[in-house]
Amino acid sequence: MKDFNGTIVCVTGGSRGIGRAVAERFAERGATVVVNFRQDEAAARETVRALAGTGHLAIRADVSDPDAAQGLIETVVRELGRLDVLVNNAGTYALHPPGDTGYADWQHAWQTTLQTNLLAAANLSYHAARHMRPRGSGRIINVSSRGAYRGEPSAPAYAASKAGLNALTQSLARALAPHGIGVAAVAPGFVATDMARPHLEGEAGESIRAQSPFNRVAQPAEVAEAVCFLASERALFSSGTIVDVNGASYLR
Ligand code: NAP
Repeated sequence: MKDFNGTIVCVTGGSRGIGRAVAERFAERGATVVVNFRQDEAAARETVRALAGTGHLAIRADVSDPDAAQGLIETVVRELGRLDVLVNNAGTYALHPPGDTGYADWQHAWQTTLQTNLLAAANLSYHAARHMRPRGSGRIINVSSRGAYRGEPSAPAYAASKAGLNALTQSLARALAPHGIGVAAVAPGFVATDMARPHLEGEAGESIRAQSPFNRVAQPAEVAEAVCFLASERALFSSGTIVDVNGASYLR
């Protein structure tokens, strides 16, 4: 199915993990994909090489920097002529258990987590929407987390950032619908990526897999499928929704 033929998609943090799977799925369905990365250029270039089709780009930008976020959207539009779909996927997860973290480290964890997981998405969406509004179409898909609903006792800033991302998703869905722009999110549980790898080893890993009655965690491709569905033509009226991809491990 090539239903994204001619569509320009930008995936933040697209060099590996869920972002890479999202880039792959869009490219398989005909899209031209911008793979954004922060530091690992080799991984981003390898991802671009592996994508189906031609014309894909790797663009470096630390999206937690507001100027770099603006620069990323401007570069996509300059290089590829327009932007149809923005996927806010780049994210960070750092442990900072409340009873066991010094105040300076606590401050640092909150600032970096909110800047990357929430403010970057707000800034990128601001610039993407300014570009999409006059064209009367576009999609913004955010990669949230089960943690927004279930809580993250050892990483409260992460849960708060994703709850904020859900509220951003729903607010923008209402604000941008009159301009033909759909905004939605996916909320995965554990996914087999670098971010989750340390948690999935040994006995702790077994108990994490047992959280789902499927007794496993998600593969990145399963999250990518939901992202592509929400970005597809017929999903516009699903704008504002947040799709769980957690193997029934946490139902709300
Ligand atoms: P990952 O394997 O750690 O990959 C993170 C990606 O984000 C990399 O491409 C990285 O690029 C990029 N990135 C990080 N900070 C960035 C920044 N400031 N600017 C630009 N790119 C940045 O992560 P993942 O597991 O695929 O997670 C992707 C998203 O899914 C995140 O939003 C995460 O919160 C969410 N999620 C993950 C899980 C899970 O269990 N894995 C569960 C729920 C939700 P570089 O390598 O160049 O730094």
